[in-house]
Amino acid sequence: MDYLDIDLTLNDEDIAIQQNAHKFAEEVMRPAAKKLGQLTPEEAIADDSPLWSFLKTAYELGYHKVIFPEEVGGMGLTPLQQAIVMEEMGWGSNGLCIQLGAAGAAALGGLMSMNPVLLEEFTIPFCNCTDGSIRGCWAVTEPDHGSDTLGFGEPFFTSPEVRPSCRAKRDGKEWVINGQKSAWISGAPVATHCLAHIQIDPSRGFAGIGAAIVPLDLPGCSKGKPHEMLGMRELNQCELYFDDVRIPAHYMFLDNADYYFPFGQQILAGFNMTVACYATGLARAAFEEAFSYCQQRVQGGNLLREHYSIKVKIFEMFSRVEACRALTRRAVQLNGSIFPGFPEYSIAAKTMATEMAFQNAHDAISIFGASGLSKEYITEKLFRDARENLVADGTTETLRKVGGHFLFETYPRSRGSMQRMR
Ligand SMILES: Cc1cc2nc3c(=O)[nH]c(=O)nc-3n(C[C@H](O)[C@H](O)[C@H](O)COP(=O)(O)OP(=O)(O)OC[C@H]3O[C@@H](n4cnc5c(N)ncnc54)[C@H](O)[C@@H]3O)c2cc1C
Repeated sequence: MDYLDIDLTLNDEDIAIQQNAHKFAEEVMRPAAKKLGQLTPEEAIADDSPLWSFLKTAYELGYHKVIFPEEVGGMGLTPLQQAIVMEEMGWGSNGLCIQLGAAGAAALGGLMSMNPVLLEEFTIPFCNCTDGSIRGCWAVTEPDHGSDTLGFGEPFFTSPEVRPSCRAKRDGKEWVINGQKSAWISGAPVATHCLAHIQIDPSRGFAGIGAAIVPLDLPGCSKGKPHEMLGMRELNQCELYFDDVRIPAHYMFLDNADYYFPFGQQILAGFNMTVACYATGLARAAFEEAFSYCQQRVQGGNLLREHYSIKVKIFEMFSRVEACRALTRRAVQLNGSIFPGFPEYSIAAKTMATEMAFQNAHDAISIFGASGLSKEYITEKLFRDARENLVADGTTETLRKVGGHFLFETYPRSRGSMQRMR
């Protein structure tokens, strides 16, 4: 066990799981992310891209189903173990973490639906997949609506004047989907399915949303070109277009907008806590790089570690890692054990961990000097990736507003009315 992993609450199984996840992060994720980051977006998804061997290995080892329960073929980890594994994976590559997390989105829709037909059709095959051939993505944002999708509690959220452009209408035993999702749909260029948030009741604005699993090989589905981003270059993203796409009625598993609020609440609780874990791993990676470098580099006749200001900076970086870890594990242990989860805990973890990870990546570059900005070291990549996390799954500013809303909205909620999952 590493010095930074001291935690007397971990048992032997937790430690073994952590060590295996770290090996995967170090030996598979980091090299794959490095190679993918050097390619153009088109090359990164081409047939000869290292993405495919990465996905195959990840699926073989089960790292695509970290949050899925054993009953549907998932890893069956405890909430704490999930947090540990996701932190290790975040240490490896935040972009590939999002790739694998997005891959499970449609299967997660099946799980949330509690519909045995969807579990059989999407969730169980995804969890049992060992070759990377079933890949989902999560399509929420649209070209004209990014933060709007998170407007819970805002007056506009229920106004028919402001509403999503991607819409579905019921037609007998089918739903017909038309519209476009934004350029930032993670994993979309290589996805076989998506979990889509789609307007089903225009009279309610954003509150009139339903959710569907959409196989992306259906007639009328198409994709935009993959985009080039500042960070997480190993993660592919693109638009999705739906032109009279027909899905069987049961694929629209959330077909009554009355239930969009608890669904959105659960999505926020779940997705924010995973990004928080990835960011914690990134914060730790930046700390470790700086900690090691300042014990090798000599300036003013002394190792950097002997300079007062470096000691202070390193200690602050260490403190941030521990703070991220504590709040993140708290959120995962809580929201991984109850349904519906508390978004405010996951949002607190996500906003804090992503900001602290960004600060650690910044400080690591300061300690490395010019070397920290060169491609020779991982520090410049950590910095670029950390910046993306401040926007992914909602900007920090927007999420804090949403967190405040849920804090006031759910504070009086009785614990007794919640269902324990474990
Ligand atoms: C790495 C990455 C992965 C992503 N993956 C996905 C994915 O898988 N699926 C998906 O659907 N989307 C994805 N996104 C998109 C992401 O969710 C959005 O980028 C994010 O929600 C912000 O939306 P926007 O970019 O449209 O910015 P905007 O909403 O246009 O915001 C621009 C600025 O205005 C501020 N702002 C917005 N509204 C208000 C308001 N009411 N009051 C005050 N200030 C406001 C914001 O805080 C921000 O500073 C991803 C993005 C990134 C970077």
